[in-house]
Amino acid sequence: MSASGIIGTFLGVRSPGTAYVLLHHYMGEIDGAFRAWGFARGGTGAISNAIADAAREAGAEIRTQAPIAKILIKNGRASGVVLANGDEIYADVVSSSVDPRLTYTRMIEPGNLPDDFLEGVNRYKFRGSSGKVNMALDGLPNFKCMPGAGAHLRGAMSISPSVEYMEKAYDEAKYGHWSSHPYIDMVIPTLTDTSLAPPGKHILSCFVQYAPYKLAPGLDWDTEKEKFGDNVVNTIAEYAPNIKDIILHRQVVTPLDLEREWGLSEGNIFQGELSLEQLFFLRPVAGWAQFRSPIKNLYMCGSATHPGGGIMGAPGRLAALEILKDGGA
Ligand SMILES: Cc1cc2nc3c(=O)[nH]c(=O)nc-3n(C[C@H](O)[C@H](O)[C@H](O)COP(=O)(O)OP(=O)(O)OC[C@H]3O[C@@H](n4cnc5c(N)ncnc54)[C@H](O)[C@@H]3O)c2cc1C
Repeated sequence: MSASGIIGTFLGVRSPGTAYVLLHHYMGEIDGAFRAWGFARGGTGAISNAIADAAREAGAEIRTQAPIAKILIKNGRASGVVLANGDEIYADVVSSSVDPRLTYTRMIEPGNLPDDFLEGVNRYKFRGSSGKVNMALDGLPNFKCMPGAGAHLRGAMSISPSVEYMEKAYDEAKYGHWSSHPYIDMVIPTLTDTSLAPPGKHILSCFVQYAPYKLAPGLDWDTEKEKFGDNVVNTIAEYAPNIKDIILHRQVVTPLDLEREWGLSEGNIFQGELSLEQLFFLRPVAGWAQFRSPIKNLYMCGSATHPGGGIMGAPGRLAALEILKDGGA
């Protein structure tokens, strides 16, 4: 329970506000199973592909590998976008699923937004706190506490032995260090979906906290990255001693990588912290929590809007309903 209270958040398990983060992770439901989590067959990308297929069937054209450089604004209205390659695409409605920092301070020319609104955007907190270590394995980890293969390996396995342990992991992060004894949430999706790896091989996906985006002076993620990965493997080895013998490949993803590769500002996995001052009617900015923006025909529809992050599609659906209400598209 304490782990669910801190996922994606730069707070400790005893910090005020984390009860909401717990609720956020528990309020979901899959096929009638309340607060269940699931694996998507084909990997998480299969969900995006399924949504894309449905959109194409409904007549949408989707461009990938087409980063947007600017949102076009004419007479206070969004009129389209300019791609990084210079192509201009005109539209009656522009809906952004990237965070407010990218949308309002990178994609919009200065002078188009009210100062108080921009102050709100600049106050919005990201503070990435999570890293990932993904491994391709030549077999299954053998846990000391429950040796051998079995159903226990098919669910989420969490290294979070005590509330004290979790809080100490945060103590280090507060001062800009990755946790030497981290919280690790592990899953082996290949036990549920054999299409993801050759027979006998497995994927071990580890979600790790804390990995603070802002490291202490003198430290940087490019040099800390593999040390962070080694520490995660060493930590797992305390519980599953065979782990080092079965690793075929390892991928370490730091908060800086999440920012560089996937456009998640400061590496926050939810496009901004799920802290109380930026939730509900305050997400992303007070007065602008209804998916609209000060610029006419420009909407936001991603995790930086209500109800926040997670693979649930709720912000997108709610934004679409508001766009329809306004008569858009
Ligand atoms: C490591 C990690 C683990 C997670 N674990 C879970 C989990 O177990 N369960 C869960 O429910 N959620 C999880 N999440 C959160 C979840 O993935 C996100 O909340 C969700 O994907 C957000 O969807 P979105 O559509 O709002 O935004 P995003 O998925 O962030 O989509 C935004 C898109 O915009 C693109 N983009 C960025 N810049 C530009 C640009 N300039 N031009 C055009 N496109 C651009 C990005 O490439 C991206 O495809 C996790 C996230 C991370 C990072």
